[in-house]
Amino acid sequence: MAKTKGFDISTLLEFQPPEVFCERCLALLRKTDFTRVTLRDETFAVQCPACGVLYLPNEFTSWQVGEYLHQAGFGINQERIIQRCVMLAGIARDVNDASRWKWVTPMSSLLRAFAAAESFIHIMSWGFSSFFVGALKLKAQAVAVRGTVSMQNQKEFLAEISDVTDAPRFEVHMVDTRNNEMWANAPHHKLVIIDGLLALTGSANLTTPAWRSVLEGKEHIEAITDLARIAELHNRYFSHFWAESKQDGGAKSNPISMMRPIPF
Ligand SMILES: [Zn+2]
Repeated sequence: MAKTKGFDISTLLEFQPPEVFCERCLALLRKTDFTRVTLRDETFAVQCPACGVLYLPNEFTSWQVGEYLHQAGFGINQERIIQRCVMLAGIARDVNDASRWKWVTPMSSLLRAFAAAESFIHIMSWGFSSFFVGALKLKAQAVAVRGTVSMQNQKEFLAEISDVTDAPRFEVHMVDTRNNEMWANAPHHKLVIIDGLLALTGSANLTTPAWRSVLEGKEHIEAITDLARIAELHNRYFSHFWAESKQDGGAKSNPISMMRPIPF
């Protein structure tokens, strides 16, 4: 008798999707990822393992950092997570298995991944096609879309990225690359993170020629579905440059006092 391939639901006990973002750098974290730090007065604070910002006890204790972040609007949506994982795993298979590209192109897989997001989309790219600005502003009607894009300062294009009147949840920071020094310091990473459950990385930037030439083997794209690897990639690259690009200057390293958000 042919043996059917089994699936043991107890493996779901090892399923540990990210629960919260760091308020400062948006690192993808689980409550257990925070490091405990003893303060001078013998009380405890907790620290973001990615950016090092301290969360000081106030109306929340250090044990309640997850609850504080949820209440402050930094919780990660966990609804329908199994259904989303099934859909994103299918997209990852379509990206990684080139024999499927005659039916489903990498570009269409990317667009399906955008469509499937129910929590957030984070991007890093060198260059950015207006096609993707439009696609992501459409998606930003439903979920937060954030990113860091390195590119030469083009006035009209920058205006479209900065003007978020029509898409308040679209927040993309541009890193100017107009001279050699800027060019050398700007991030060169190519990264798309969907809900913390799928990462697309490789050589292709978020431009239409790059994503279409994956099909011809001129660019390489890898879909990653290992949650620990996704969080590591995200927190090492996206979070680092996100914290850097925030316009709060010296406030970057100021500790966060865990107070209840003021209700409106
Ligand atoms: Zn952080």
